[in-house]
Amino acid sequence: MDLNILKNLKLTKTTASKIDTFDFEDLKFGAKFTDHMLVCEYKNGAWQDLEIKPYSPITLDPSARVFHYGQAIFEGMKAYKDVNDDVWLFRPDENFNRFNKSAIRLAMPSIDETRFIGGLKELLKIEKEWVRKGLGNSLYIRPFMIAIENGVIASPSNEFLFCIILSPAKSYYSGKIKVQIADYYSRAANGGIGAAKAAGNYAAQFYPTKLAQEAGFNQIIWTDSTHEHLEESGTMNVFFRINDTLFTAPTSDRILDGVTRKSLIQLGQHLGIDINVRPMKIEEIVKAAQDGSLKEIFGAGTAAVVNQMEGFAYKEDYYQLPELANEDSYALQLKDALTKLQNKLADDPFDWTVKI
Ligand SMILES: *Cc1c(COP(=O)(O)O)cnc(C)c1O
Repeated sequence: MDLNILKNLKLTKTTASKIDTFDFEDLKFGAKFTDHMLVCEYKNGAWQDLEIKPYSPITLDPSARVFHYGQAIFEGMKAYKDVNDDVWLFRPDENFNRFNKSAIRLAMPSIDETRFIGGLKELLKIEKEWVRKGLGNSLYIRPFMIAIENGVIASPSNEFLFCIILSPAKSYYSGKIKVQIADYYSRAANGGIGAAKAAGNYAAQFYPTKLAQEAGFNQIIWTDSTHEHLEESGTMNVFFRINDTLFTAPTSDRILDGVTRKSLIQLGQHLGIDINVRPMKIEEIVKAAQDGSLKEIFGAGTAAVVNQMEGFAYKEDYYQLPELANEDSYALQLKDALTKLQNKLADDPFDWTVKI
């Protein structure tokens, strides 16, 4: 960490905090934000001074590149508070490194650890009251970077804005979802930007997801270019349990390297669950659903941690998964173990949590 960068941080505090009237019980994910945000501009070939200021709109010229060519990336991470009121981050280095990988892929400048992690820690110190204690409570963190240079010239911007905003979150039981396996649309391409957290990846999946929702499903499980292998579910990585083995696809150009995914793999192994990372064929899970050996499917990502599925559609057929007692579900066991570790309600044998 470069302490000079943090010493030059410009801080303007709000005179009208929203915290006293904020309803922490009624939280729609990602809908409301805290009092302050972190911003930092990149220009003349360098990142400028960090600034923390009241949460407020960003004003840009209509010709700013982000509006035309979609040079935009983001991250998703969470902060947690323990019983002693200390605030913790979960594997922030993973998000920092992935942010820079996304930046490189989108021809954007990488950012230094001091501005990203150091800046975030300074912001969290100011917004400490917004992090609530208790299992499942967290503060969702959304770092992002956009191209702000003016001019509708189809070339990479030379100016960027890095920003972090914070949104209080609660993990509640959202119910099981029904998914449809993609057999026409794709989320990502070989050699494309699927492995980056690029804003455009989401834009590209809204329309097919809307069609799936109109057909009665909540999400899509994306497949590879030949629509033979199972890749990701919506905005999450995906796990399949056949008998007592948990399968998930290896990461690739098309599959995002999720922090939740890699943490669940390690945690599962630690808990004695048999985990197998290999490409999964649609054919295999259809067969397993038919012979009763397919026990669970679930998505894994920072926002929901784990999202259980009740069944999947493939082409004309729908396959219902069996009802499992909660204590027999790998999804729920893993979710419980990971959330307790993150909320500092259980040991962290992996040293994943970082105190701010
Ligand atoms: C963010 C994201 C995930 C989940 O990653 P986490 O680090 O676990 O939150 C999975 N797939 C896609 C496409 C994503 O954008």
